[in-house]
Amino acid sequence: MSKDFNTFNNVVRLPHKYAAGATFTKFYNGLKKGIIYGSSCSSCEKVFIPARSFCPGCLTNLDEVVEIAQEGEVISWAFSDKEFFGMPGKPPVIIALIKLDGTDCNFLHLLGGMETKDLDAVKSVVKTGIRVKAVWNDEKNGHMLDIKYFKPVS
Ligand SMILES: [Zn+2]
Repeated sequence: MSKDFNTFNNVVRLPHKYAAGATFTKFYNGLKKGIIYGSSCSSCEKVFIPARSFCPGCLTNLDEVVEIAQEGEVISWAFSDKEFFGMPGKPPVIIALIKLDGTDCNFLHLLGGMETKDLDAVKSVVKTGIRVKAVWNDEKNGHMLDIKYFKPVS
């Protein structure tokens, strides 16, 4: 079957607002104060971050938020020196799954505070299992990037 029309690559952007809900609002308000809030399930005793309104494991309603440690372990990470849609900031970036101490899930955020000019430099520092600590922006607006990045600690 022949094609008698042209096709073009395009990107559709869909700016939108969403209602964060009471629990996510507590999480974001915590970020404004330099506090990371999660939720603790009294039924299965797991701790989740960000704070959420129900337990993804046993579906129990979660009404209370708990303060979460600001240090944890890198579970997985990726480096990009190419810009991509939705990238937080400019390349290069290191995105990591971090298991903050005392939680039972991974938190997706940036790694930083180190040489990031190329992958070899990053690989000399960043490895699965290294310990990292939250570094905050001076100005906080109740946004995920109030945490500037997580920095390796020795
Ligand atoms: Zn549960």
